[in-house]
Amino acid sequence: MRANQPRFSGLTSGHRACLGCGQALAARLVLEAAGPDVMIANATGCLEIFTTPWPESAWRVPWLHSLFENTGAVAAGMEAALKAQGKSTRVLAFGGDGGTFDIGFQALSGMLERGHEVLYVCFDNEAYMNTGIQRSSSTPHAAATTTSPAGRARMGKRHLKKDILSIIAAHHIPYAATASVAYPADVRKKVRRALALPGPSFLLVHSPCPLGWGHEGALSIEVARLAVETGLFPLVELERGSVVGVLPLREPKPVTEYLKLQGRFAHLFADDPRAREELAHLQALADANIERYGLRATAGGLDTESADTVRRGGGQWA
Ligand code: SF4
Repeated sequence: MRANQPRFSGLTSGHRACLGCGQALAARLVLEAAGPDVMIANATGCLEIFTTPWPESAWRVPWLHSLFENTGAVAAGMEAALKAQGKSTRVLAFGGDGGTFDIGFQALSGMLERGHEVLYVCFDNEAYMNTGIQRSSSTPHAAATTTSPAGRARMGKRHLKKDILSIIAAHHIPYAATASVAYPADVRKKVRRALALPGPSFLLVHSPCPLGWGHEGALSIEVARLAVETGLFPLVELERGSVVGVLPLREPKPVTEYLKLQGRFAHLFADDPRAREELAHLQALADANIERYGLRATAGGLDTESADTVRRGGGQWA
């Protein structure tokens, strides 16, 4: 068993992330799979801040801090320069949901469209955590943040989480996938798949933020797992824009199992007809994901209860 464990650790311990930070774990998993011959362009955000308080760094690979808005462009330039020098070093781009869904989206879209051989990883913690938990376009509907508070006027955020995967799929890149820190082997496998294919690839990793989501740090993995098991954050893989693999759910759990663990959804459990309406709405969103991606497990197959890998098309196991 031990011989099969990943040996390379590109992000060392001792950084300053909060206890239970999903993003810190996710970045470590990505680098374990990518190996030492990589360079990183890292957007502004929590990951950049907690790993590089001057003059220290927790990174053991070449790492460059880009801005919120230009990570895709910086990574594209790095890839072009390495190619011109005849080097095989792979370029990774890291960003949070603010830098990916919102501020840096234009540069990301250009990088994908021009076909740069970069793996772009978005660590999705569903708000601007680094600057004070403001809502982003990735924040789920009804979640409370400092700029979408819950109260008499409204029940948290009024808009739907942006379907970034569909937008990425429209670029017809070789590989795009969603992943979760609750399924570490699956994260590593998807990184290896992405890097094995020529051209650009995109990975969206659901990464709980105990501070912004309002749960104990010790619950991060449980919370992340419930997001998958309820259908609110489906694990899927796409090649050239088409779905080629999903993680099936043996028995989808009610969304309340996921929501009740988090302070950002606490207002949904008040004795208020608006709260009941929002809960029904969130359940409908999860049900729609389950139907859309065909997440219901078939008898005998691997699923969230029995495996941490994904099923690929035609009953083939990766
Ligand atoms: S605020 Fe959230 S994302 Fe930032 S370091 Fe803390 S737990 Fe991680």
